[in-house]
Amino acid sequence: MTKSCLNCEKTEEEIPLLDLHYQSGKLFICPQCLPILIHKSEKLVDKLPGAENFGDAEHHH
Ligand SMILES: [Zn+2]
Repeated sequence: MTKSCLNCEKTEEEIPLLDLHYQSGKLFICPQCLPILIHKSEKLVDKLPGAENFGDAEHHH
């Protein structure tokens, strides 16, 4: 199976992917989407259950 970014689904053929180890699984994310994981992880909650808890627990307006 071709590895692809969990957010934008670019494959390792198109862009370097970073490994994520999460809940005993393995996921991949590209450098373009990494800031989303860090700062806007709640946007990834569809793909990463619990992602809303990754970042700081700040409230958004
Ligand atoms: Zn991506």
